[in-house]
Amino acid sequence: MFEIILVLMFGLCFGSFANVCIYRMPRDISIVKPNSHCPKCKSPIKWYDNIPVLSYIFLGAKCRNCKEKISPIYPAIELLCGFLFLSMYFLFGYSYILAPFCLLVFTLMVITAIDFEFQIIPDEFSFMLMIVGLGVSFFNYTLGDTVLQRIFNSVLGFLAGGGSLYLVAVLGKIMFKKDAMGGGDIKIMAGVGTFLGWDRVLLAIAIACFLGSIVGISLMIFKKIARKQEIAFGPYLAIASYIVLFMPAPAVVINTITAIEESFLTKYVFTGL
Ligand SMILES: [Zn+2]
Repeated sequence: MFEIILVLMFGLCFGSFANVCIYRMPRDISIVKPNSHCPKCKSPIKWYDNIPVLSYIFLGAKCRNCKEKISPIYPAIELLCGFLFLSMYFLFGYSYILAPFCLLVFTLMVITAIDFEFQIIPDEFSFMLMIVGLGVSFFNYTLGDTVLQRIFNSVLGFLAGGGSLYLVAVLGKIMFKKDAMGGGDIKIMAGVGTFLGWDRVLLAIAIACFLGSIVGISLMIFKKIARKQEIAFGPYLAIASYIVLFMPAPAVVINTITAIEESFLTKYVFTGL
């Protein structure tokens, strides 16, 4: 019970930090300075008015100073982050990979919000995922049984996640003479791939395409968007990556990777190590 409360509190606090990132990063404002202030009257927000969710309730959704209404999106993001962290706890327990995967879902949530509003994914998030994903790969047991398998699968995940979308971008450019895939999408999936491995990152991209086309087609049917209008793909990639965390890798994929490892790697690569 103590662990659950601890994880939830971390989630709510990171959710509060997520609000800062979502608001400031696309506007090129530093995420550390200045301290949080009311966007209307600019008065600094005291620490006791900055407690996740609770302050929103106690302040009656209004700024203490100027009584400007505070958007319910802020506590919603905090609660969502708390829920996401808890879901990682139920998936991995109180283990070494709990923190890295919490960081992954935190990032997926933040880039979903930023990409949805601004159609960009800040590079900082992609590079952070690549470094952390590769860095913790040797104890990320979702990537394989042995340390070498895990590191290798993490690197393959980087190549598969980034490479497959890069290929789509290049083909799209040739076939339709326009950008079919943003550079931000390519980089973020290279980062996500270091956590998921090559098989599950490809599965995530496939699910994202499926979700994206369902939503895109429904929006076209209901005439909400024009045919040529671009929609952000990042949110679909992020949601699909989260879904895949709860799915086992498909059997055919597991068999393939095992076969590749047994025949090629063990014979030619790993014997030399
Ligand atoms: Zn104010």
